[in-house]
Amino acid sequence: MISKDYWRPLKTDGPVCGRMIYDEICEQTGTHHCNPRAERFVRFCSTFLRHYAGPLARSPFILEDWQADQITRPLFGETQWSDDWNRYVRRYRVAYYVVARKAGKSNLAAAFALYLTLGDDEESAAIYSGALDRQQAEKVFDPADRMRELSPELSARLTLNKAIKRLRDSATNSEYRIIAGDAAGELGHAPHGFIMDEVLSQRDRDLWDAMRTAAGTRSQAMFIALTTETNDDASFGARMIDDAERVQENPQSAPHIFSWVRKTDMKADPWDERNWYHANPGLGTFKSLEEMRSMATEAKNNPEQENSFRQLQLNQRVQQVTRWMPMLRWDKCAGILNETDLLGRDCFGGLDLASTTDLASLVWIFPDEDDDDHYDVLVRAWIPEYLVSKLDKATGGLLATWVNDGYLVATEGDVIDYYGDDTGYSINTIQTAPDGLAIHPQIEQDANNFNVLAVGYDQAQATATAQFMQGLDLTIKPIVQGYGLSSALKEIMRVVKAEKYAGLEHPVLRWAADAAEVKRDSQERLMVVRPDRGASKKRIDPLVAMATAVRMSQVYEPEEEEDTTNPFDDVF
Ligand SMILES: [Zn+2]
Repeated sequence: MISKDYWRPLKTDGPVCGRMIYDEICEQTGTHHCNPRAERFVRFCSTFLRHYAGPLARSPFILEDWQADQITRPLFGETQWSDDWNRYVRRYRVAYYVVARKAGKSNLAAAFALYLTLGDDEESAAIYSGALDRQQAEKVFDPADRMRELSPELSARLTLNKAIKRLRDSATNSEYRIIAGDAAGELGHAPHGFIMDEVLSQRDRDLWDAMRTAAGTRSQAMFIALTTETNDDASFGARMIDDAERVQENPQSAPHIFSWVRKTDMKADPWDERNWYHANPGLGTFKSLEEMRSMATEAKNNPEQENSFRQLQLNQRVQQVTRWMPMLRWDKCAGILNETDLLGRDCFGGLDLASTTDLASLVWIFPDEDDDDHYDVLVRAWIPEYLVSKLDKATGGLLATWVNDGYLVATEGDVIDYYGDDTGYSINTIQTAPDGLAIHPQIEQDANNFNVLAVGYDQAQATATAQFMQGLDLTIKPIVQGYGLSSALKEIMRVVKAEKYAGLEHPVLRWAADAAEVKRDSQERLMVVRPDRGASKKRIDPLVAMATAVRMSQVYEPEEEEDTTNPFDDVF
């Protein structure tokens, strides 16, 4: 079956092709779609390979129509005359395959590796699947090896070296093995095939470039990159996907590159199922529609998950930074606490102290004695007075109201008052909020009123305050900020969704949660960031203090009771 949809150069050089499969002989000349070559891969899969997992496990690996017609037939069938080699060779050297998750990528990648190793008529072929690290590189190798096990023909030909993850075909003296990023310099052979899965998680382009430049002594080497969209616009994956899109739009610009990119239009309604199929050609066959629906439902209620849904399920380039908290959920944990109800209760503190342009915050988390999944949250916040008017507009005048209502303590001048007016070494000694205490007196009062188990703080700030807390005999601990708060953020989200917090109505904390954006790294860790840092009038400090308190509770180890008995008591 020859697809007429794609472009091919008009070149008529070369003799009649003559390639055969069964009783079919290709009689074309010049650059052409060679049916026997195209069918050879398709039949290699259905004859020798088995599905290794899923509902079709152990059944013959018969390509879906779209896989065969749109991907593998053009990829292996497009052929051109080579003066260098004096024979017909495949036209495509590089293949980009960019689709949503679970579009049969790993199956196909494994089939490519096996075909190039022993189905491609290449003597002493060296095939590699590569990634940043060994573990990731094995993600292509292991399915291929499982396919070998399931195939009598392949197990008769290929021997496995488990230790180095290598499959060897003695008939053609060819081998397929994994290669990890930093070992690229040690390549022994010119690769006949290289497969890189999940390019989005590659740190840089070194491995790909090393493999590409090691080719050249092979007549029809093939370099295949498979990936889902990235959320990092500055990454190698993003550059490669951009390149793939350019080639797909304008194939004449790179006749040796095959590009198959299926992304959902950014303007399309992400919740309309009809828009899902383009980026998910396997939807309904190897990707469950039901599961996709439930992921969509979850993503709809959560901006952070929406981004991940758009990226991985709709194959869209999303912003790395996204709003974090679905405020509808947050507001179900409403209520302002009555402090007298908290007297004597166990609690963890989190402290986020300020520079001159931020708020300072102290958040106490009180685990419920009767329900160990329920927490009361008490918030203290301070702001230098000059900042109130500067930020007031951004809150529609609410900030001044919060100061008047005592949710936020404004201290006169340009910096926050840490010490209060009775200590003698205050930076700014006068408090403008009649009921508000400065930071240190407040800590002291809270330490007397509650049973403080431990206070977490950012080591980069707060040296004086840390000393002050030690002076109060409080247990304190520096808490790593940034991605170090990831598990705390996830815990906050979990408890919010379970509606097990009380006290989140505090307007300053709510303001911070509403403003907070998160960044995700490749290990799915979260970091909370302030929107448009610098320019923005939003602040997230109270949320950071809350996350620090939650993190403190996660790493807290009760101190062992000190052994006060004197070991010499028995002796004397
Ligand atoms: Zn042909």
